Amino acid sequence: MRAFGIVADGGAGGRRRPSRRRVMAVAKSVELGYCLLEEGKSAVDAVEAAIVFLEDYPDFNAGTGSRLQLDGVPRMDASIMEGDRLRAGAVAAVENIKNPIRAARAVMERTEHVMLVGEGARRFAVASGIEEGEVRTARRIEEWKRNLCKEHKHRQLLESIYGCETVGAVAIDRQGQVASGCSTGGALFVLPGRVGDTPIVGAGIYADSSIGGVSATGLGEDIVRVVLSKSVLELMEKGSSPRMALRMVMNRLEKVTGGRAGAIAIDGRGRVGVWHNTEFMSYAYRMSGRKVKMGAGVK
Ligand code: ASP
Repeated sequence: MRAFGIVADGGAGGRRRPSRRRVMAVAKSVELGYCLLEEGKSAVDAVEAAIVFLEDYPDFNAGTGSRLQLDGVPRMDASIMEGDRLRAGAVAAVENIKNPIRAARAVMERTEHVMLVGEGARRFAVASGIEEGEVRTARRIEEWKRNLCKEHKHRQLLESIYGCETVGAVAIDRQGQVASGCSTGGALFVLPGRVGDTPIVGAGIYADSSIGGVSATGLGEDIVRVVLSKSVLELMEKGSSPRMALRMVMNRLEKVTGGRAGAIAIDGRGRVGVWHNTEFMSYAYRMSGRKVKMGAGVK
């Protein structure tokens, strides 16, 4: 029987070990996706369901819990890709959408485009029947105000508070299709309109069913420069295991950009890889015939 399964993450980075509640939520998103795969649903369905669950969970920096940019407005990025025909969809700097990953899927399936941004993306999402949603959770506004008062150099500030609760998922279904997805409120305190790696195909995500899939998390300004997800898949294509390929690209990221990130991957044989050069990263995965595994990624 062909291996199927799903891996998800709740972001890399942070100064504190992710709470058990957060790790359990990632595990729950994996169980949701896994149930769909078991029923014979597609990898795209599983990735979307896992990410929607995490977007609706205010502890994560995506959807409902998204961070606020410098002007106090949350703008979200999300992307999804299916690896059979290399179709992809993304939204960037979109406001007031409950589930940006649904909007990204609608871009992939209902348009000839790969990415929509800003107001155009929002209007398209609403017209596609995707629920609108206010993001300003009280916790996020407090966090934004606190940081607004801090005197930091911008880069230092970015590094201390980037994403770290962004969400992502990669799945392989019974038919062997691979899909990857990612969703984020980006980094706190960035210039209005800033977009990271998450909606950029090749950087934040990549999927090719003949090789596997990857989803990245960490400071987007560094991740885009090493085209992280596609670089990992290229090494996997040459024979590296997902874990080894992730480790090699993460080493290069650290050496060249000084960046810190994490990523998850699955290959066509159903092997899972999780790697990060940050201190923490919450993740969970479940492959066919196995129990769910989870961790806070303590190195
Ligand atoms: N990659 C996201 C961004 O830079 C943040 C994160 O994954 O933590 O927007």
